[in-house]
Amino acid sequence: YFRQNRLPHLWCPGCGNGIVMKAIVQAIEKKNLDQDKTIIVSGIGCSSRASGYMNFDTLHTAHGRAIPFATGIKLANPELNVIVITGDGDCTAIGGNHFIHGCRRNVDLTVILFNNNIYGMTGGQASPLTPLTKKATTAPYGSIDRPFDPCDLARAAGATYIARSTAFHVKHLADMIAQGMDNDGFSFIEAITQCPISYGRKNKLGDAPAMLKWMSEHAVMQAAFDKLPEEKREDKFPIGILHKASTTEYTTAYQKVIDLAGGGK
Ligand code: SF4
Repeated sequence: YFRQNRLPHLWCPGCGNGIVMKAIVQAIEKKNLDQDKTIIVSGIGCSSRASGYMNFDTLHTAHGRAIPFATGIKLANPELNVIVITGDGDCTAIGGNHFIHGCRRNVDLTVILFNNNIYGMTGGQASPLTPLTKKATTAPYGSIDRPFDPCDLARAAGATYIARSTAFHVKHLADMIAQGMDNDGFSFIEAITQCPISYGRKNKLGDAPAMLKWMSEHAVMQAAFDKLPEEKREDKFPIGILHKASTTEYTTAYQKVIDLAGGGK
């Protein structure tokens, strides 16, 4: 599933992107998806480079625009498995509008957000998911912009499968992605991952193992998180399936109205 005889990848040593990419491939393997019917679409950013390293029909699109490209592919060929790779800047800033409307339409896409809390490739600027007080090139004294939770946004906008995992919990992450592939609708998986260079160095978070250790200590399975008293939740975050809903998928709904109108004649 990986491209052979290509130039080496451009990710920094210790970057978590390769771990998340491997989890996506493990999910594809687990679901036994047909390689010729699986399309990987990405936007722009460090994580979006993954599409170029994977041996599927791939489309590396414009910044923030992966979801509309993927929607077009799915509408034209509903039988294809369409996977979107995106980063926190790509998905929630430049592509925020497309993200909301992808969720709202419930198109059958599997969207994996590589959340490293920063714009890595374009120079370490703060993204909408950069935590308060954390430093970025655009926030040299620490960010004062309040981040939002992309899973909460996806839920409010209408996504029908929402899950979260981390680069530390690789098997769990692959399982969350695989279960998203089973959903007939818009599936959103937030993969929290480490960027030891653009984010970690600026914020003195240590090297990649230290950042992975942080994930292992702060991620809590959803069921256990729900039982935590409020005061113990503060520096923790839930992982697992956060939401599931049953809503008619977009291409199915579209076909129904075409049929009702007499096949468009
Ligand atoms: Fe990975 Fe960060 Fe380097 Fe980008 S800048 S390749 S996210 S470590």
